[in-house]
Amino acid sequence: MTLNKFKIGQSIGIIGGGQLGKMMAQSAQRMGFKVNILDPDPTCPARYVAHKFIESPYNDLEGLKALSSISDVITYEFENINAETLKEICSENNVPQGFETVGILQNRLSEKEAIASSGAKVVPYHKIDSKVSLDNAIADLDYPIVLKTVFGGYDGKGQLVLKSDAELDEAYKMVEDAVLVAEKMIELDREISITASRNIQGEIVYFPVQENIHRNQILFKTTVEKEHAYKDAAVAEVERIISKIHFVGTFTVEFFIDKTGKLYVNEIAPRPHNSGHYSIEACDYSQFDTHILSVIGYALPKQIRLHEKAVMYNLLGQDLDAMEHYFNDHPEWHVHVYGKEVRKENRKMGHITLLLDDKEDTYYPIYEEMMS
Ligand code: ADP
Ligand code: MG
Repeated sequence: MTLNKFKIGQSIGIIGGGQLGKMMAQSAQRMGFKVNILDPDPTCPARYVAHKFIESPYNDLEGLKALSSISDVITYEFENINAETLKEICSENNVPQGFETVGILQNRLSEKEAIASSGAKVVPYHKIDSKVSLDNAIADLDYPIVLKTVFGGYDGKGQLVLKSDAELDEAYKMVEDAVLVAEKMIELDREISITASRNIQGEIVYFPVQENIHRNQILFKTTVEKEHAYKDAAVAEVERIISKIHFVGTFTVEFFIDKTGKLYVNEIAPRPHNSGHYSIEACDYSQFDTHILSVIGYALPKQIRLHEKAVMYNLLGQDLDAMEHYFNDHPEWHVHVYGKEVRKENRKMGHITLLLDDKEDTYYPIYEEMMS
């Protein structure tokens, strides 16, 4: 594609129709672009905000070709698409994110290797593909250790914490089923993330640093302020990473901060991220706006302005039940409900953003008390 030739009325094809695809589509449509969605689920959230919908498995070449044939640019809302299948459509279509990045990042091992080789810091880890390699990892790293499947984990799924030999049997069983990464479990002081967008031309813009609190390994709450003590350190790590891995569009780097204040890169999502959702109301550009601008090769804003301190809470199935009851009395809750057909415990059904300047004392406790 020639730069800046993308025109109003042209169409963006998105692989995946979950909440991220939906919010991307809403940004794109506000700017006058058409959106085509591919998803295996005909009731997926993005279907109802798309011009065209293709019902197809993510990794089906025919489906991807059908999406490409009606779209001027192709992007994706998640990293678990088959990189080899994506490669097939890259040569003849406009896929500015390419296929290599999802290939690296969908595998925790190649992800960690790429991050470490960029000079960014990761927690000590071992590849586990046999009982012997697990024994070696335990001898080297010492308990506690987190075992993670190399493929397909999210929200803590596919993870086992090993605190002592008591969990060894379970761990050996896990080794039989899949290749794993063993990571030193560090004592966390805090978790932060930083979202950035990089366009085709290579311009990059950063969102404010996000402080994340997880419950049961699922993001519970993200808080953002204008300044953050780790901003420069986080940006420096991202700069290292992008010298090794090709990014176009919005992506997020998750970090751990240990009790001594050391910063470690945890993982990278090559797409808009749950911890960046506050940007829809709290910033002058959302992470979805800058994603769209990036993949169509438009200029990015020089900086992202955070209007005021903000906090975002996820609405899981059980939270939505509670929230629904109080929503009509709380116009200060910026409510997003994704429109998933089935409401399930711990399934991400929506989120709420609160803008907090000078209101912290009243808003936080009310919300957290209600939802507990
Ligand atoms: P997911 O792909 O499920 O998000 P993560 O690797 O980010 O997987 O792990 C989920 C959460 O589990 C992290 O946000 C963190 O709270 C906790 N966790 C994971 N690995 C470690 C570790 N090595 N040390 C301490 N906590 C960890
Ligand atoms: Mg994570």
